[in-house]
Amino acid sequence: MTDTMTAEQRHRCMSHIRSRDTKPELKVRRWLWHHGYRYRLNVKSVPGKPDIVMRPYRTAIFVNGCFWHGHGVQLSSAQIENSKLKIENSRCCKIPQSNREFWVAKIKRNQERDQRNYQVLLENGWQVIVVWECQLVATKIEHTMREVELLLNSNMLARYKHAPVPFNTGEEQLPAAAENNIEYHSK
Ligand SMILES: [Zn+2]
Repeated sequence: MTDTMTAEQRHRCMSHIRSRDTKPELKVRRWLWHHGYRYRLNVKSVPGKPDIVMRPYRTAIFVNGCFWHGHGVQLSSAQIENSKLKIENSRCCKIPQSNREFWVAKIKRNQERDQRNYQVLLENGWQVIVVWECQLVATKIEHTMREVELLLNSNMLARYKHAPVPFNTGEEQLPAAAENNIEYHSK
């Protein structure tokens, strides 16, 4: 095998690829951990092998790379025009002009698999949260993760929701502000 890279160059190249692959998921995990959330990773017993599983919330989190999962591109509507595949790229998923059919087929398969996985989870009473790579840049991560937190908590509430208790509007039940005032002045 011919290889013009030195071992050092190759190492740097490989570690770059690896860190780029795992970084978005790590960011999500780190944020959750620092905010007191506990989770499990790649739980095989949960359909679709979600990246992060939070059982108490019955929630599965997928952290998707924008390119590989085709964030914002509608590949099902891709059409051939002048013998070229016409696609509306999104801001974070730009499908290369060369070898386009290959990339489209690949990303489309990923999208279809994603949808199947989400569907199975939903049918089994799981909630699905999808976090996109582009939502985890430094300027957006806090906002994104606060949204994730809101979803988690609403999932938790939905799981433990009790029958609504009628609110008692009887006047004797209301906090007695006047009484407190009297008490305060008498001191
Ligand atoms: Zn994106």
